[in-house]
Amino acid sequence: MSKNNIKIIASSIIFFIITYILFGTLSTVKAESTYNQSVKSGIEAFPQEYQELLNALKQEHPNWTFDAYYTGISWDELVQNETNHGHNRIINSANSLWKCSCGDVATGYACASSSITKYYMDPRNFLNNDVKVFQFLEISYNERIHTLEGIKSVIKGTFMENKKVSVTVNGNKQEMSYEQIILEAAKQSNMSPYSIATKIIQEVGSKGSASVSGTYAGYEGYYNFFNYAASDGGSPIAKGLEYAKNGNGKQTRRRKRKVIITLDRPI
Ligand SMILES: [Zn+2]
Repeated sequence: MSKNNIKIIASSIIFFIITYILFGTLSTVKAESTYNQSVKSGIEAFPQEYQELLNALKQEHPNWTFDAYYTGISWDELVQNETNHGHNRIINSANSLWKCSCGDVATGYACASSSITKYYMDPRNFLNNDVKVFQFLEISYNERIHTLEGIKSVIKGTFMENKKVSVTVNGNKQEMSYEQIILEAAKQSNMSPYSIATKIIQEVGSKGSASVSGTYAGYEGYYNFFNYAASDGGSPIAKGLEYAKNGNGKQTRRRKRKVIITLDRPI
């Protein structure tokens, strides 16, 4: 897995969630701490400066909707916690203004300056075009917007299109299409099925790789769609399949919950 130039914890005063259907709700979000957090739908739920940028996006993409995630964390508290020395880092070859004056460097990454950290934490810096805004895309499973048809369109043209495979779900053997498998994985892991499908394609390519053929010599019947543990050096595929062979199911980073789906025969 590659390191980004700067590691910024994804938290901010207000977050965005883009969804592809219209709905208006006020729901309570489970907080990690005692902060009072909520989600409010609609551009009008954002501060004025955000609204101008979001309205411009909405004009270009009328079917996008925006939800404001009120974290209950003040900007000052957030900045204070994100600029603890070494908490966020930047590649050491970066512009010196992006590096903290404390001079802390670890494995090629320098402590990030508070000004660059603040820049990346401020959503207003990333709402001026329809590419950067996707860092705020909702990536948890949402039964109101994630559908089999939607997954089908994501995997169209890949090795997963129109393919049924024999799988075991929670101990039950059955034939399922890839879109059904991905939807089931989304439900079990609370991850967006579109994110899961995209990640698979990103990791193994649109034609699939030996990581998912189930026929790799010495690892027949083992699959690793996310290339977990397939690190460089030696054979990355064998490393990833060894990881799968050792009983590691697909896991999501978000909740560390195992997705209990195993493929029973090669695709
Ligand atoms: Zn520092």
